[in-house]
Amino acid sequence: MSLLAHSAEDPADGRTHLLHNGTAQHYRRTVTEAVTRISAKIAGTTRPFTGVTVDGLTPTVSGVDLDAPLHDAAAALDELEDVYLRDAVYFHHPRYLAHLNCPVVIPALVGEAVLAAVNSSLDTWDQSAGGTLIERRLIDWTAARIGLGERADGIFTSGGSQSNLQAMLLARDEACRRALTGGELPDGARPSDVLPRLRILTSACSHFSIHKAATLLGLGADAVIAVPCDEQKRMRTTDLAAELARCRREGLIPMAVVATAGTTDFGSIDPLPEIAGLCAGYGAWMHVDAAYGCGLLVSRRRELLNGIEHADSVTVDYHKSFFQPVSSSAVLVRDRATLRHVTYHADYLNPRRMVEQRIPNQVDKSLQTTRRFDALKLWLTLRIIGAPALGALFDEVIDRAADAWKLLADDPRFEVVVEPRLSTLVFRYVPSTDQDPDLGDRVNLHAREALFASGDAIVAGTTVDGRHYLKFTLLNPETTLEDIATVLDLIAEHAGSFLAARPRPTLSAR
Ligand SMILES: *Cc1c(COP(=O)(O)O)cnc(C)c1O
Repeated sequence: MSLLAHSAEDPADGRTHLLHNGTAQHYRRTVTEAVTRISAKIAGTTRPFTGVTVDGLTPTVSGVDLDAPLHDAAAALDELEDVYLRDAVYFHHPRYLAHLNCPVVIPALVGEAVLAAVNSSLDTWDQSAGGTLIERRLIDWTAARIGLGERADGIFTSGGSQSNLQAMLLARDEACRRALTGGELPDGARPSDVLPRLRILTSACSHFSIHKAATLLGLGADAVIAVPCDEQKRMRTTDLAAELARCRREGLIPMAVVATAGTTDFGSIDPLPEIAGLCAGYGAWMHVDAAYGCGLLVSRRRELLNGIEHADSVTVDYHKSFFQPVSSSAVLVRDRATLRHVTYHADYLNPRRMVEQRIPNQVDKSLQTTRRFDALKLWLTLRIIGAPALGALFDEVIDRAADAWKLLADDPRFEVVVEPRLSTLVFRYVPSTDQDPDLGDRVNLHAREALFASGDAIVAGTTVDGRHYLKFTLLNPETTLEDIATVLDLIAEHAGSFLAARPRPTLSAR
């Protein structure tokens, strides 16, 4: 190795980039430069996406020599324009209508800047102090909005999938404990004797993370029972009752019923009061996955969540309907004692004696150890904007979805699946003349891809009864009905050119 290469690795150079009392000015200048560029970027975005392809962008990213630093933040930000910013997908754009990504509120970005710089880790009190208390206040605040009662608790997580996993873990361990102490099993029975009998009942429209959680938790391949939905895509409680009765007959243990308050595709809300009644009757843990619908907690439509207060656990994704940046999520529980199933003590971190000393170590309740202070974003949001204004933002997109539904229902070019409860619309373009059902699939798949490639708008896709549909997820109050009408016209145009370019079927081929 040459001497030159060595001298370039001067440790003094690295130290000027560490944040400490001697570099605070450097920090301020550099971060201000980045924020200035991003604000210009956000202001100048004319489309949600450039339509760049994987093959188009890969050489740019691969071409960066990670062993040849630029030693200059401005130069690195210039480069970032090429490798990321120019072609990023911008959720704040009014014609981004695809997934459950929200535009973010500025107070949360202030929180993001603060939490990254102070860099508290919320696992133990001795790494976060006030951060721990702030997180606990927000958990209590959310639990109170849900109505979980005096013994409620919870923890911030990385997202709804992790919240659901933790809820299923608690439900599993509670079910095992009850089965092993309930006197129904032979003496000496072990958790491994119980696991194969555990069942999770959830609607056919629930989130795939429930299946993933079941697998991670060592439950069998048929552990998840998909309960059919009604035509509004809500869990059919008559079928749930029948499945619960069948479990009992067959000696199976319904360890949890997962109700969804805001299904990812349809925004439908399962009948929570009826499900709560059935859970009580069968001694099943009631989990409500409100990853999407949690924004109703602060909206004028709060009554749509009636019954959620009976839950044993609840998933909320603030990074969906509370307009928070990724990531910000929580799992709440009715009985804080159930969180002991994730409590482990390490002498170096959270020794048992700290519990007696009442030192609040959040790691005792979490699947993670080192953990971001995501709660700060919600804290500053509530302190600066307040809950009613957040709820009003969510209400606005729900209103918009209702108007868009009328637009779609009146438009002969499209067929729309269900009237939305929240802010999603699942619909498809219907080719007017052809009877070939596969053509409908192909034309909708094409329209979605062509729109994405154009970058003019981004919509999602899903399947309903095995057929391809398109989906709008509205989470941006800046999206107007005109934007939606424009995107529908674009979809129809792409669909129309696909149909026009298709070779005419010959009579013999028919
Ligand atoms: C988005 C979503 C999840 C998963 O949440 P992540 O934050 O993406 O992990 C779970 N359940 C429902 C209903 C969702 O919409």
